[in-house]
Amino acid sequence: MNESNYIPIAALNQYAYCPHRCWRMFCAGEFSENQYTLEGTGLHDRVHTFSSNLRDDTWQVRAIWLKSDRHGLIGKSDLIEDTDGNLYPVEYKRGHRGDFENDALQVCAQALCLEDMTGQILTHGFVYYAQSHQRQPVDLTPELREMAIATIDAVQELFHTGHMPKPEYTKRCKGCSLYTHCLPRAAKKISKYRESN
Ligand code: SF4
Repeated sequence: MNESNYIPIAALNQYAYCPHRCWRMFCAGEFSENQYTLEGTGLHDRVHTFSSNLRDDTWQVRAIWLKSDRHGLIGKSDLIEDTDGNLYPVEYKRGHRGDFENDALQVCAQALCLEDMTGQILTHGFVYYAQSHQRQPVDLTPELREMAIATIDAVQELFHTGHMPKPEYTKRCKGCSLYTHCLPRAAKKISKYRESN
């Protein structure tokens, strides 16, 4: 695969959150900040500086690039840990654990890259939620791996065709920084109006 066709790991998270948002950010190049994205950017600015250290018996390496030729993925990790030769990725997120699987999907994508880079099979990773200071374990189950691979395929298709998925109003729209770009409730009303006329 041509390296310029590799998809950013972060796009998987956005696609799983909302395909329309992923299209706006990665195909149309639109982005707006809100309170949540600003907090998230501040957090990642702090962890996206390369460093490595030994803490107890665990090596910690921050901000290294991960890549998978097999899956056509690329992205910067927040933290990779190595305990007794066992690797696992830790993704930093603001806030608390949500109802959605998109953060777990991002951890799984990082694990797929690490497996491709090292030949090691990973069993789990973590999401660290900064507001609650909790590490949420992510088991790399066959189901999660399948979901990650299906999402990689869907994002590759989206990038290849550039076709815009329709905005759909869901409870995720409430916290979305692109709400005023796509106005999903208005779009729904207009589409209903068109159907009835
Ligand atoms: S407001 Fe809703 S439909 Fe629009 S991009 Fe955000 S999550 Fe998607």
